[in-house]
Amino acid sequence: MNNTTTGKVWFVGAGPGDPELLTIKGQGLIAKANAILFAGSLVSAAAVRWAKQGCEIQDSKGMDLGAITDWLIEKARQYATVVRLQTGDPGLYGALIEMVQPLDAEGIEVGVVPGVSSAMASAAVGVESLTLPEVTQTVIFTRVEGRTPVPKGESLQELAQHHCTLCIFLSITLLKKVQSELLAAGWHEDSPILVVYKASWPGEEKIIHGTISNVREKCRAEKINSQAMIIASPTIGARHWPELKKSKLYDKNFTHRFRKSKKKKEATS
Ligand code: SAH
Repeated sequence: MNNTTTGKVWFVGAGPGDPELLTIKGQGLIAKANAILFAGSLVSAAAVRWAKQGCEIQDSKGMDLGAITDWLIEKARQYATVVRLQTGDPGLYGALIEMVQPLDAEGIEVGVVPGVSSAMASAAVGVESLTLPEVTQTVIFTRVEGRTPVPKGESLQELAQHHCTLCIFLSITLLKKVQSELLAAGWHEDSPILVVYKASWPGEEKIIHGTISNVREKCRAEKINSQAMIIASPTIGARHWPELKKSKLYDKNFTHRFRKSKKKKEATS
């Protein structure tokens, strides 16, 4: 590259852990990249297996935000394609904007490739649907307050009052708080909770089916205290329900853009 142009920095969602859950676009950028910075503890090293020979690959474990952005800026001045691999989707709890702003300030072009979030991967592991007709049609991605404060009106207790699906990130060490806030919001202590540790990581994934009252004990017994998704939802376990309200999407009497309902077909024929 000449000195007057800089490369582009791509923030690529690496997915939840299984390298096959990376998007084709993400894989293509990894293969094209001259330099890759990956988030060591959460992105499987396998995610960089498509990198070309000679690509500079660096683990960001141990680097603070300033060191990360300095690295990205330095590499973008040297190379055409620089990739920052982020766990799950880059737009969820990934400090994306904190990294983008210094790049903007340097006039470096930025792109984002979405990824499969651990919330989606955890639901998939449990064969759960996060929405169900007449049960809940809403999903909230949140975390409980620990060292990072949550804004006013977003305490778990307040959010849980909607009795919708709650995908709770970054909170496995705060399960006691999760329990007490759900109970305070009126959830029953037997309400099911799903915890998935290292969802989709080959050979490392653990799944806990618990209730509000026993989930902490179960996680303790399995020594789960990091990298876990907590899903509290009135939909958990629906696979085993004898009675299920069916979605209108596949209802034979429901018309949408791509399919005419049986009733309508009969009326028009
Ligand atoms: N951007 C990421 C979230 C980063 S915050 C995403 O979209 O998934 C890190 C938190 O995500 C962890 O504390 C944990 O709650 C969750 N997490 C990340 N990877 C996970 C995985 N493979 N299994 C379960 N939870 C995971």
